[in-house]
Amino acid sequence: TYTLGPRIANWDLERKEWLAKNPEFPNHVNGKARVLLVTGSPPKPCDNPIGDHYLLKAIKNKIDYCRLHGIEIVYNLAHLDKELAGYWAKLPLIRRLMLSHPEVEWIWWMDSDALFTDMVFELPLKKYVNHNLVIHGYPDLLFDQKSWIALNTGSFLFRNCQWSLDLLDAWAPMGPKGAVRNEAGKILTANLKGRPAFEADDQSALIYLLISKKDEWMDKVFVENSYYLHGYWAGLVDRYEEMMEKYHPGLGDERWPFVTHFVGCKPCGSYGDYAVEKCLSSMERAYNFADNQVLKLYGFRHRGLLSPKIKRIRNETTTPLEIVDQFDIRRSSNGHS
Ligand code: UDP
Ligand code: MN
Repeated sequence: TYTLGPRIANWDLERKEWLAKNPEFPNHVNGKARVLLVTGSPPKPCDNPIGDHYLLKAIKNKIDYCRLHGIEIVYNLAHLDKELAGYWAKLPLIRRLMLSHPEVEWIWWMDSDALFTDMVFELPLKKYVNHNLVIHGYPDLLFDQKSWIALNTGSFLFRNCQWSLDLLDAWAPMGPKGAVRNEAGKILTANLKGRPAFEADDQSALIYLLISKKDEWMDKVFVENSYYLHGYWAGLVDRYEEMMEKYHPGLGDERWPFVTHFVGCKPCGSYGDYAVEKCLSSMERAYNFADNQVLKLYGFRHRGLLSPKIKRIRNETTTPLEIVDQFDIRRSSNGHS
């Protein structure tokens, strides 16, 4: 049967000893857990060339957020395990990064088609001290409805620990492409509400695992919905102007969503559930909405949410440090400037 690699059984102790021996690579820096954001896209160019431009915008957006918040970032273009190509590629990658970066406390997976739209909001990591997987979703949709969209695997966090390696091992067996993935898809469609018939995907497989082995795993899973660790784009992108009028970054929830995720849009691939034009213009809006928050420090903003052009929002000054004190979002973690 399929495995992600040789079984590792003693990671917590080995990692602890490694951290003790390597104090120059601490898992906490300035009192904050070390976080590595991981994302990526397929090894080849997009079928639709404009898709590559949006992949560039999406990684630029993530670099901005990570720079502002002291988070390290990995962009992967390879298939580490050819059996797990496509959406399953994140599993071997996350495992590999955990084992190669023992100093990292949390690995944060984010899909290429998810954008940060609140550049000020920070993960409330203290809340998760007793948990190893943090994922956006709704417990009632998961356990009462058994819905295939109860959780979203476009943005989630794994603690670097033995439990996470074990969960990845339990999650992976439906992934190998071909017969295994196709047969597993039938089981998932038969058991999860609302799921169309198609090969096994990583999201459905995780939901199915957590429903069927609830007692074994749920203790350490934090199902988050107090802010948008993942936010479904369709309900958000048309409201950005309203948000800018009424609220401010730093809230992370429906008032100013932390993440806007373009589920069902495939600008890089040849098929999707939504019209490509609608997807692209919505991504453009999300990107510019976020970029305005970054450009503010430099004294600019986009002319409109659909415009790549920017304009000045204040005059040049001979006292630049006053501007830094006023607008640098690294110092206003509550979002008000
Ligand atoms: N992905 C990847 N390599 C691939 C295919 C997908 O790294 O070969 C990543 C990419 O970040 C993508 C995510 O996996 O956003 C989910 O894949 P999916 O095909 O579901 O794309 P989406 O639904 O996000 O468009
Ligand atoms: Mn996605």
